[in-house]
Amino acid sequence: MKTTILGHPRIGEKRELKKAIESYWKANISEKELLEIASDIKKKNWLNQKDIGIDLIPSNDFSLYDQVLDMSLTLNCIPKRFRELKNKVSFVDLYFSMARGFQKDKFDIVAMEMTKWFDTNYHYLVPEFEKEQQFELNSCKIISEYREALQIGINTKPVLIGPLTYLLIGKEKENGFHRLDLIDRLLPAYIDLIEELKNEGVTYIQFDEPYLSLDLTNKEQEVYLETYTILKDKFPEIQFILANYFGTLHDNLNLTLSLPVDVLHVDLIRGLDELDTILKHQKKEQILSLGIVDGRNIWKTNFDASTEIINKAKAIKGDNIWISSSCSLLHSPYDLANEKDSAIPEEVMQWLSFAKQKLQEIVLLKKIAQGTLQASDIKEIEANKLAFINKEKSALIHNNKVKQRINALTEADSLRKSIFAERQKKQQQELQLPLFPTTTIGSFPQTKEVRSLRLKYKKKQLSEEKYNSFLEEEITSAIKFQENIGLDVLVHGEFERNDMVEYFGERLAGFAFSNFGWVQSYGSRCVKPPILFGDVSREKPMTVKWTAYAQSLSKKYVKGMLTGPVTILQWSFVRDDQSRAQTCNQIALAIRDEVADLEKAGIKIIQIDEPAIREGLPLRKNNWAAYLKWAVNAFKISASVVKDDTQIHTHMCYSEFNDIIANIADMDADVITIETSRSEMELLDVFVDFKYPNEIGPGVYDIHSPRVPNVYEIESLLIKATNLLPQENIWVNPDCGLKTRDWPETKLALENLVASAKLMRERV
Ligand code: GLN
Ligand code: ZN
Repeated sequence: MKTTILGHPRIGEKRELKKAIESYWKANISEKELLEIASDIKKKNWLNQKDIGIDLIPSNDFSLYDQVLDMSLTLNCIPKRFRELKNKVSFVDLYFSMARGFQKDKFDIVAMEMTKWFDTNYHYLVPEFEKEQQFELNSCKIISEYREALQIGINTKPVLIGPLTYLLIGKEKENGFHRLDLIDRLLPAYIDLIEELKNEGVTYIQFDEPYLSLDLTNKEQEVYLETYTILKDKFPEIQFILANYFGTLHDNLNLTLSLPVDVLHVDLIRGLDELDTILKHQKKEQILSLGIVDGRNIWKTNFDASTEIINKAKAIKGDNIWISSSCSLLHSPYDLANEKDSAIPEEVMQWLSFAKQKLQEIVLLKKIAQGTLQASDIKEIEANKLAFINKEKSALIHNNKVKQRINALTEADSLRKSIFAERQKKQQQELQLPLFPTTTIGSFPQTKEVRSLRLKYKKKQLSEEKYNSFLEEEITSAIKFQENIGLDVLVHGEFERNDMVEYFGERLAGFAFSNFGWVQSYGSRCVKPPILFGDVSREKPMTVKWTAYAQSLSKKYVKGMLTGPVTILQWSFVRDDQSRAQTCNQIALAIRDEVADLEKAGIKIIQIDEPAIREGLPLRKNNWAAYLKWAVNAFKISASVVKDDTQIHTHMCYSEFNDIIANIADMDADVITIETSRSEMELLDVFVDFKYPNEIGPGVYDIHSPRVPNVYEIESLLIKATNLLPQENIWVNPDCGLKTRDWPETKLALENLVASAKLMRERV
């Protein structure tokens, strides 16, 4: 019986790697210095695991940017546009160029595309394939990391992205082939790589194949079997670990059990239901690696429940089991010990477990299974028991009022009083907005000054009074600015908000905030998700003060600005003692109360942002309907409290709604604003085909770049939109919030936006 993990957090305990990489980009440190810091982090990670007692420690789970990009470079799968750079810059710079683009001298090369790693908040760089794609073993990162660990006496298992997952998560950049066809060319490169690892003396190799958590075609299944059969035939002496995570195996279960590998790793956090079947059908001699400690959340592992599962497996497999994390701990924050001075309540602390604690849990679970506990372990186990008993009753978690409200919810709570057509009439009458009303998505530039004063206030270096008067000034000038340039529906600017989820979490009961609970999102970017530990409730208004203040300054309508329940849920670490649906409804009720208070305060237009609805979609399509049902309903609970003539907006930062347009329509927001400018309004087609009935603000300019769009290009986009949609349903707005922009370009762009709307009105 061995303990292992699939991967360790790599950004450094206090984000040392982030800081080093960003300094390197700014040319403040040399490549050598960067690599030394990286090396220190790797060593610390390995020794950390060794000290705690992990038996089989991974290598190549480290990355300077992204493990998929590492694999692309290992396989020499470098998009054409970067090849010219190969002889001009160092390997490290080529690597960062592929991740971030390269704009220097005569070069202007766009970065590789980035997308979400399965259903996590981690983003990888999408491998790009040509029809004539060749692969060959290129970089020696995997070998050198293996050697690096060996030097400090640790014989690691190198982690590779499995060949099928690597191909399938990539993208064809030319027509006329499917990426799966490339397997015959890819396989020799993997064989060369494994050969080299064999020569180094490697015993175990971990092949990450999370793609097995997705629906596979028959062809894909066949190629899986062929590929692993070939690889295993070539290397009978190397122990192959096949790692699936993030989901169940479902229709791929038989396939997976038939693959000729020595160790099968399964995610028991997501796939516990399949354990019995696996135990029944797995080859006797194959080791089962039990992914029993949650790699994606921050709650303590319940030793009693986990031991029961381990014992069940042990009864059948004997010592042919390993104890592991469900997935890589890349998705967990580093160490709870760093939170001693944080604002996390003492009681909540005892329920939590970050990566370092998870390693200890894994080791302890093995001891329990083997009956080798020591006196100090018994104490740990007692504390674990007590934590779970405490959790069941804790007044911090359980709020009967909230539970009663959830139980009392009826269908009527998610329905507006009248259907959209009637509401639209009433709203037109009440609001008297012109055709093609202009607005923005909420935030205005978060200048250095805004950020620094907010931080000072937070650190108590600035008095509440001073901070408030600063915010008043900012809001006043934002309102004046919007009036001057002639926008129709104004916003207060969100200057008081650091982050659209954190801001609300900090004001709701049931949330806690860590100081160092960072997880990598992409490259050097990390996020620090709020910890949603208990029943959510809103004790007092969260946004009314600033919204009402802004409204008091203008005769025009100021739009109230809220984050929706699904987005708050999706971007937090969420409690696992009740369904996500239930937790989401609790947040929905809190937002509903805020909506009601905004309306009471005279706000006639309220926007509830839901940029995360689509990313919450489960990995397998057969689970989509259930998710969409509760997610859409939660939005509707939050929105449906208002009178017919109060206008509800929602916003999403994308518009690929192909599969879910009916659900988006079902949300029944009076107005939806989406991103469309980069696709030249093409993404509106789905709405048109569906005959989407409500009002839409298709973004008319890309806020991701400082470029100022001219009046005529905005107008031409709007003309396109009027050819597709009824003109009385069209709003004019940017693609998303403007917080990352500077004022000069924001002013020019919005002036042009207003001018183009005026031109459109003249055309009518
Ligand atoms: N209201 C938010 C803003 O403007 C929306 C942000 C988002 O969609 N991610 O910043
Ligand atoms: Zn957005």
